[in-house]
Order: sequence, then structure tokens, then C-alpha cells
Amino acid sequence: MTGHVVFIGAGPGAADLITVRGAQRLAGADVVLFDALTDPALRAYAPQAQWLDVGKRGFRTDGGSSTSQTQIDALLVRLAQQHKVVVRLKGGDPSVFGRLEEELQALAAAGISSEVVPGVTAALAAAAHTQRPLTRRGLGRSVSLSTAITQASQLQHAAGLAPHADTEVFYMAGRQLGKLGRALRAAGWPAHTPVSVVSRAGWPDCIGSSHHLAQLAAASLLHAGRPTVVTVGAGATAVQPTAAGSPAPARVPAKREATATAA
Ligand code: SAH
Repeated sequence: MTGHVVFIGAGPGAADLITVRGAQRLAGADVVLFDALTDPALRAYAPQAQWLDVGKRGFRTDGGSSTSQTQIDALLVRLAQQHKVVVRLKGGDPSVFGRLEEELQALAAAGISSEVVPGVTAALAAAAHTQRPLTRRGLGRSVSLSTAITQASQLQHAAGLAPHADTEVFYMAGRQLGKLGRALRAAGWPAHTPVSVVSRAGWPDCIGSSHHLAQLAAASLLHAGRPTVVTVGAGATAVQPTAAGSPAPARVPAKREATATAA
């Protein structure tokens, strides 16, 4: 028998952030391969299915066990040859730093059909938590989703961190906030660039903090051991109140005191 694989974005946290389509497709699963960052409460959508944990836990400081990508690719193919509907449940959106490419390639090579159901990526959940829109009229015209980390899990060199967009959201940098701050400054970002750091976006215990780039190291302790995204530039600025009836575009302040308190 050859089955079908459905990649589903679970969203960044709490089970209710999955899409309606994602929940419906999950309900039809025979087997579910899930990531470390997905909420165990999602099991309620597919109690009939066999659930297999294949999580990678790169953001943790305690080095929890993980499954290699090659093993996951092989397992996915094998399960699709044994079951009708295999769900590959991924945190956030499958297309954003989700190793979707490798898994699609493995399925295509084995002649197995698949589809992708999108999810809410961490950058969007972080912006929702802080109420800091990623785009701003006039000043924030572009957004990039970046990883600060190379394939060898090292911080990118300054050349790879030069500003690409008005708002840049860095994934997988939670363990190296101080280093990231220094590298971004070396790459040309001004010391007073606003930075918003959010960990466990979408979960009830989400934490957000505001900084200037020069003080980013101050965020390390607050977010230690938690999945964290770092928003830099126009979209990291708090929305300022305006008088009713006179909406003004958001302004990036030239200088503001850094704060390291939970928001
Ligand atoms: N596909 C996922 C990203 C997976 S890469 C998505 O679309 O969100 C893993 C990285 O995502 C983590 O290192 C962290 O930077 C970020 N991340 C995932 N979940 C998060 C959350 N709830 N809050 C903050 N960052 C998160």
C-alpha cells in the first residue's frame, strides 16, 4: 500500500493556534510524526492515531535527545508505505526553517504523494504578543525571516547578517543573544536599533522584552532555554498612541532607553 503524507503547521504554541484545516486533516491521520515544539494537547484532535515523537531540540540547554533528519526522512517514507494517511506535524509553519525540503525530496523520490497545510510561524505569533506590527506604513516596507545560525550550528559571520529588510526576524538565536547583538552591530546595524525578543510565543507563559541592539545580551537570562525569536528594526518598535482621527505612520525613535523587563 502507498499512503499519502500531510504536512501540517501546528502553529507556534497552544493547540488552538492550529488552523481549522490543520485540525481537520489531523483527525484523519493513521499515524502522526510530531516535533518537540508542538503542544501535547493536539493529541485530542487525533486520538485514533499512533503518535511518534521525532522532535529536534536545538533550542534547549539540557541537550534532550533528538532524531536525525535522515532518520526522519526514512521513517516518513516507511510509514507512508504502511499506512493510508501519515501526518507530519511541525511547529509553526512547515515552510519556515522546518526541513520541509528534505522531507518533500524523500517522498518524491519514493513516489509518495503529499500536501502542505500552512501554520502560524513564530515571527507572527511574536508580533501578535507584543502588538508590534512587522510592517509599518512608510518605515517598515519589508520583513525577512532569517536564521542567525549556520548549518554547523555556529553564529553567522557579520557578512551574512548585514541588514536585508526594514524588519528582520531571527530564528534559532535564543542561546546566543549577546553574540547576535555584537555580530549585528559588526554587520552594520546601529547600536540603538530597537530589538524585541519573544520566547514561547503563543503559549500562556510567553515572555517578551524590549532592548536596543547594544544591550541585547541583557535578554539572555530572561529567555534562557526557551524557543525565542528576535525581531530587529522597524517592526520591533512599540506602537505609539496617536490622537483619535489622526493616524500617523510608526516612527523608529532615534534613541530610547533599553529595558530588559518582561512585557
Ligand atoms: N517552523 C517553525 C520554526 C522552526 S525552527 C515556525 O514556523 O515557527 C525553531 C525555531 O523557531 C526556534 O529556535 C525559535 O527561534 C523559533 N520558535 C519556534 N517556536 C517558537 C515560539 N513559540 N516562540 C518563539 N520562537 C519560536
